[in-house]
Amino acid sequence: MLKHFILLLVFTFTTLPASTLSLLILGSGGPEMGDQRASSAYIVKVDGRSRVLIDFGGGASLRFEEAGVHIEELDVILLTHLHIDHTADLPALMKASFFTPRSRDLELFGPEGNRVMPGTRTFIKRLFENRDGAWQYMGDYLDGRAAFRLRAKDVRKSRKVHTIYRKGDLSIQAVSVHHGPIPAMAYRVNVGKKSITFSGDMNGKYHTLERLAKNTDLLLAHNAVPKGAGGPAADLHMTPYTIGQIASKANAGTLILSHRMLRTLGRESETKKEIRKSYKGKTAFADDKSLYNVR
Ligand SMILES: [Zn+2]
Repeated sequence: MLKHFILLLVFTFTTLPASTLSLLILGSGGPEMGDQRASSAYIVKVDGRSRVLIDFGGGASLRFEEAGVHIEELDVILLTHLHIDHTADLPALMKASFFTPRSRDLELFGPEGNRVMPGTRTFIKRLFENRDGAWQYMGDYLDGRAAFRLRAKDVRKSRKVHTIYRKGDLSIQAVSVHHGPIPAMAYRVNVGKKSITFSGDMNGKYHTLERLAKNTDLLLAHNAVPKGAGGPAADLHMTPYTIGQIASKANAGTLILSHRMLRTLGRESETKKEIRKSYKGKTAFADDKSLYNVR
C-alpha cells in the first residue's frame, strides 16, 4: 500500500506541468503621439495570472483595461527608468486600484537617482506623499492607511547582474544599462527555467544586457532608432545592428522589438536586415496587445 502511495506521489510530481510564461505587450510605442500606440508597458503572465508589470507609459492604462488585466493579480511593478513614456500612467493605475478588492501590498522597483533624475522612492513620494505630493490625496497608499501599501524601492546602480526579488518560483534580476545621462535598468523575469528579459531604453555601451539575457527565452529590445542614427539619439538608444549583436551574444531564443517610433516604423525590413548580420533567431515586431508564449 505504502509502495503504491510513494509511486503515485512520484508520478504526480514528475507529471506536474511546468508553469506557462507569457509576455503581453500593453504599449509598443515611444513618447510620440500619432502612431496609435501606447507608450512602453508590458505584463508578464504566469499560468495566466498577470504578476509583473514593466513600465507604464501614456495610454497603457487603457490597454491594461482592454486586455482584461486585473490590478489584484500584480505582485510587482518594475520601472526601467523614470522618463514620462515609461511612467506617465502610474497615477491612473493607483487611482483605479481604489475600486478593486486589492489588499496585498504592491512592490515597485526602479533605478536610484543621480543629479539629473530623482531616485524611484523619491519619485513616488513626489507623486503621492501626504502634504507635499502632486496627488497628495493618495498619500494613504504610502503610509499604510489605504487598503494596501505601494512599497517603492531603489535598485542600486550596478553593472553586475543581481537578484532584486524572489517569490516562490518567480525571481527578478536587474543590471544597469546606459541611457544617456538617465539612470536606467534592464530586468530579467525568471519562472522556473523560463525567462523573459527587458532591455528598457539603452544604447548598449555598458555591455551588460547580453550578460543579463544569457540564454533567455524572449528578449524584448527597444527599437527606438533606425540604422545610421547618431548624436544624442545614439547615446540614448541601440541601433538595430547593436540589438542584433546583443541578441546573438546572449543566445536569445526569440527577439521582440518594441518602443517603435515614427522614425523606425516603416523601416522594419532594413532593421531586420541589420539584426540578421549577427542574430539568426526568430525576430518579431511588437504591437499593442500582442501576446507571446514561452514554449
Ligand atoms: Zn522611452
